[in-house]
Parts: sequence; C-alpha cells; structure tokens
Amino acid sequence: MTAKPAAAAARATVYGYPRQGQNRELKKAVEGYWKGRVTADALRETAAGLRRSHWQQLAEDGIHEVPTGDFSYYDHVLDTSVMVGAAPERHRGAVEADALDGYFAMARGTQDVAPLEMTKWFDTNYHYLVPELGPGTVFTANSVKQVAELREAVALGYTARPVLVGPITYLLLAKPAPGVSADFEPLTLLDRLLPVYAQVLADLHAAGAEWVQLDEPALVQDRTPADLNAAARAYRELGAAADRPKLLVASYFGRLGEALPVLAAAPVEGLALDFTEAGAANLDDLAAVGGLPGKRLVAGIVNGRNIWINDFRKSLATLGTLLGLADRVDVAASCSLLHVPLDADAERDLDPQVRRWLAFARQKTREIAVLARGLGRGTDTITAELAANRADLASRAGSALTHDPAVRARTAAVTHADGRRGRPYAERAAAQRAHLRLPVLPTTTIGSFPQTDELRAARADLRAGRIDTAGYEARIKGEIEEVVSFQEKTGIDVLVHGEPERNDMVQYFAEQLTGYLATQHGWVQSYGTRYVRPPVLAGDISRPEPMTVRWTSYAQSLTSKPVKGMLTGPVTMLAWSFVRDDQPLGDTARQVALALRDEVNDLEAAGTAVIQVDEPALRETLPLRAADRADYLAWATEAFRLTTSGVRPDTQIHTHMCYAEFGDIVRAIDDLDADVISLEAARSHMQVARELAAHGYPRAAGPGVWDIHSPRVPSAGEAAGLLRTGLEAIPAERLWVNPDCGLKTRGWTETRASLENLVAAAREVRAAL
Ligand code: GLN
Ligand code: ZN
Repeated sequence: MTAKPAAAAARATVYGYPRQGQNRELKKAVEGYWKGRVTADALRETAAGLRRSHWQQLAEDGIHEVPTGDFSYYDHVLDTSVMVGAAPERHRGAVEADALDGYFAMARGTQDVAPLEMTKWFDTNYHYLVPELGPGTVFTANSVKQVAELREAVALGYTARPVLVGPITYLLLAKPAPGVSADFEPLTLLDRLLPVYAQVLADLHAAGAEWVQLDEPALVQDRTPADLNAAARAYRELGAAADRPKLLVASYFGRLGEALPVLAAAPVEGLALDFTEAGAANLDDLAAVGGLPGKRLVAGIVNGRNIWINDFRKSLATLGTLLGLADRVDVAASCSLLHVPLDADAERDLDPQVRRWLAFARQKTREIAVLARGLGRGTDTITAELAANRADLASRAGSALTHDPAVRARTAAVTHADGRRGRPYAERAAAQRAHLRLPVLPTTTIGSFPQTDELRAARADLRAGRIDTAGYEARIKGEIEEVVSFQEKTGIDVLVHGEPERNDMVQYFAEQLTGYLATQHGWVQSYGTRYVRPPVLAGDISRPEPMTVRWTSYAQSLTSKPVKGMLTGPVTMLAWSFVRDDQPLGDTARQVALALRDEVNDLEAAGTAVIQVDEPALRETLPLRAADRADYLAWATEAFRLTTSGVRPDTQIHTHMCYAEFGDIVRAIDDLDADVISLEAARSHMQVARELAAHGYPRAAGPGVWDIHSPRVPSAGEAAGLLRTGLEAIPAERLWVNPDCGLKTRGWTETRASLENLVAAAREVRAAL
C-alpha cells in the first residue's frame, strides 16, 4: 500500500463534468431560450459562466488538467455531428440560417422536421442523438466550439485538454440516414472522416492544446476484426499527422480486451483505461501487452458512474502496480462525471454520517486529487485523508442500514422452489381462464393514465402544505374513479387504477422501502434539459408495510371487472437507482425481490387476480459484452421470478417491457415465466411478435398496437391491421390487445380516442375469428 513516488508527479484529471450547474441554471437558460424568454446572448453568457465556475471548482478541488469541449447545450454526440459537418439533409437550411436554432432543431425537431433519433449512451441512463450518415455524407471540419472553449480555459490560466468523441466511436454510434439502405455501415466512411478529425486536431494545436483526448468507449464492446482494423488505421493515420497535439485515446465503461493491444501499438502518446471493477481485467491485459513504454497512462480509478466514496487503499495498490507499466501514470475518474450529481455536501437532509459515504462529482474530484498526490509524492503525504477514508468505509460497512440481520436471514433462506410457480404455464392458464372469464383477445393498458396538471398540482400542494394528506388522497381517489369509469364505459377487459399517486415508477417505491435514500439535489442529465434524480439504494431492503394495495383495492371496489395491480420489478428498481457497490448486484436484487414478493402476495390476498410487474430496464442494463450477459440474466430473471412466484396458479402475472429490440433477450423473457407480457411493437409492425414466435415462446403476449410516444391517434382499422399481423405469429388464445406503454405522458383527448379505437379493433378482429 505504500506507493513509491513516481518519477514525474502524477497529475489529477477528469474527462467531463456535470453541465447543469448547482441550481440547474443551464436547464433554465436553455428552456427559457426555447420559450423566447432568454436571448441567445444571455444563454451564451450563462453557459460561459457555468464553464468558468466548473473549471474553477475543478482547480480548487486539486485537478491539474481540466477538460474542455465536454460542455454542451444539449448533447456531446450532437456537438460532434456539428464538428464534422454531418447535420442531416433535412436540417441543413436551419443550421445554415442560425447555428444555435439549427442545433436545437436537430435535437428536438420542429413542427415540420423530425429530430435526430435519441438512444442510450452505452449502458448509462444518458441519451445521445444518433448521427445519421449515408454513402453521400460529406464531412467538413468545424472546430469553432472546441477552439473557443479551449481558448476560454487557457485565457483563464488553466491547463486544459479538449475532449472529443473519437472517430471510431462516432461512426459506430451512427445509423444509416433515412432513405439509406439499412445495410449501410457508417464505419465505411472512416477514410472520409479522418482528414476532418486531423483538421480539428490541428486547429486545437494551433489554439494551444498540448494534449487532446479522443474518447473511444465503443472499443470496450465486443468488436469485429474489421472494427479493430479500422481503429488501428484511424490512430495510425491521426498519429502520422505532422501538425498535431499529443493524443490521449480514452476508453471507459469496461475492459478494452482485444482492442487494448491495438491501441497500445498505435502511434499516440497516451491511453486512458478503466480500472474500476468493470475494467479490472485491464490490469492483467496491460501487463500482458508489456505495458505502455514511453506513453502516458491515465488510470480511471475513481468510479465515475456511481456515488460511493472510493476505497483509497485498494486504489493506491492498483495505481502502484500501474507505475511499472507506463512512462507516466495520471489519476482520473473512470468516465466523465456527467453521470453523477454535482455535490453531496448539498444533501443537508441526509444523516451526516451517511453523507460521508457519498461522493458526487465534487467529492470525486477531491478523491482523484488525493490519490494523485499519494501516488506522486508518497502515501505519507495523505495520511489524514487515508485515515478519514478508512473511518468512513468502516462506518458504512458496520452500519445497521447496510446490514439488517432480518433481511440477511431471509435472503439466505431463499430456496430454488421460492423462485418457481407451483404449476406449469398450461395448467395456470386454464385456472386463470376459469377465474377471470375474459374474452379472446382481451384488452388492457400498461398502467398509467395521463398525469394531468391537476395531479401534479395536487402533489405540489401537498408538499407545500396547501392541502393535507386527506385532501390529497381525496383527489387521488377522484382520479381513480374517473379512470375506472372511463375504462368500463369503453369496454376494456382488464382495468388499471391509473397510477395517479405515483410521481415516478421507481421513486414511488423507493420512498416506501427501508434501505433506500432520497436526495434533494442529486440531479443527473438524462437527455437535453431532462434531468432525473435517481434514488440511492444504500442499504438492506425491506418493506415496512404494503405500498400499493389500498389504491388497487379502491379501484377494484368500484368495478366488477378485474383490476390489474401494478408494481415496478426488481431489475428496474436497481437500474434506475444508484445502487450499493458493497455486495453483488444479484444479492441486492434478491432483497428487493423479496420485498416486492410480499407486495404481490398482499395484492393477491386483497383479491387482485391480475398483477403486473414492470421490467422496462431488463434489456437496457444488459452488459456491454456478450460474455458478461449470462450472469446478469441469471440473477435478473431469478429476481423477477422470486417476486412473482408466491401466488396461486389462478393469479395471472403480467410483465411489461418497452425497448424496441428484444431479439437478444427472448430467452430471458421466456425464463421470467410470466403469464402475459406486453411489449412495445407498434412502430416496428409487430416485429417482436415474430421474434417471440421464432423462439417458440409459449405464453401470452400483448405486442402494442398504439405507439404512445406520439400524440397521433391510431384508427381502429390501423390497430386491427396490427392485430391481424400479430395473429400471424401468436395464436388468438394467447394474444392480448394493449398500447405500447403507459399513458402518463399522453393527454386525455388522444387517450380517449385511441383506447376507444383499440377496443373497436379488438371487437372487429374477434368477430372475424
Ligand atoms: N406501468 C408503467 C406505466 O404504465 C410502466 C412504465 C414503463 O414501462 N416505463 O407507466
Ligand atoms: Zn413501457
């Protein structure tokens, strides 16, 4: 643990910083600009002020080399598209007329022009705008933003390192533009793209950049030999330029694997690698390639995507090993700090003891600085920090919050049988038919009904004390009455209560489970100006009392039709929270599953015959590398089954997922052993029904026939057409009729019309069976 002083003092750095500001100033300025309340100049001034204060914070916290260009009005991948002149054809005019308005038009669309598609940034909850490329794409260098932000930082006296999305990752994240063949591979544009990158690098060099960072997280995914060849070629060519800064190629979100030797051999001056648990294999792999002689190694040792303090002792041991493997070792977070909130010290409502376990962006930068000092000057220069770190880790490990003996005893006693329904599907289906007496092609919805302004106002009123709990609950009941009576009138077969009491499908449960913490200011960017505040799953999880039973029962008391109970599944509860890192995810999932199992059983005992357990995140947290997937799917499906297997055979378990591509998890979907699954399918014309059929999926399914992401109302004929397509893959006795997803973001007008059409479509197709 005593690291010898490095030859050159280790430097502290980061790859990116939260953009929004302590009070989400950026969100307010950008949204104000959209509404015409903030001028372009005022927006630019707010942005420049935020960049200044972020660099100042970084420097104050001990960061030697600050990033530039990581700031963005909306998204850094869209910024990259602008940098290489790849605005889609349909936005060209707008971009030329006004760069800022054109930029936002690409991000959000306009009345007449569709935006770029948005998708998840690797396995994080950040969403980027997907570049649209085609054989006709012509790239041109536009380094204005990058150069300007570098100059700002340099003028303020900072040592700055511009950060760009690397050319390989940029192309691998792109998709064929509309109208271009789906077989088109954007990577074939590499030769056209490289000169543009070379130009941007030359511009940054001329503006004073000693180093430029090129981010290549796509190289931690499984890559083909052709991809790896492309990476080798890209860095050979960029490295060969005469007029360029030193290049730091950065990887994060896991191990580089077969890409490591490729980058190690490239003529670039530095590599950044992930040395957190996700990238642990990088250590041996680096030794196996003989290290990085003559190169700079940036060690991503502080986890950039969770919110827990670092273990200094462990990190220093790793860093000490790395010293022998490169010319120079610097210390960083494993990825941009974009994925964590800004400052844990702002969480005044948390127990101060617990707050000391948390490290948001500011705390992480301080950790990086301490580790760099310990590495560079010896651990005797950080004895106080080491002692404090040891004490905080010990307090967390010994806390009653993280170790509840009752929860531990219960999870230890879980048996294989606890995770299996008592009867096979065919027998359950017969029992459920007798119990529920539903028509063929039964209609239902996914759970939520429109979250109206009145509902949000009621919640705000309750928080502000303008109404009391009784007043709030009366409003919720009123909403449930409306939702139930509308569904009865419309002729829906399996009703829902509409989820009016839920602010968010994870937060609602997190607030009621022991072991979860809420933050006041823990905002992280999801996309554009949308920020989310994930709850913190900090300790052992238990359920002090039922969470949903009274609302579901109230809805059931209003109707003789079955009302479906509605829960968020264990995998999604983990995926959309900051999860403890002191035990395997599977153990945490099992605790959550047991708490939810009690809720499922209580719902059944209260007379709920249909219970849905949503798992929209099952697909999105699939590990980036195929080799890691079996383990994940094993604990994830086990947790779902543990949640749902405590009920009688005649209780019908539903699940729901909304992600367009299910192909690679059909087997896992089968393993859930849910009686009915509803899936997003309207936009892909029932593709998922064919995928389930191809797999031989034996249970009931409801591929969505209404794309709820758009306000468009599908006609009854259109929905009936989709149902007939569904029937080609799934037999009538196993096909359900439902929308793609919940209706909370929809208005009542289109909800009414669409659900009426959906019921009409079901009746029409039934009549023709
Ligand atoms: N039951 C939830 C709802 O209807 C499901 C949401 C989701 O799939 N993301 O809102
Ligand atoms: Zn959904």
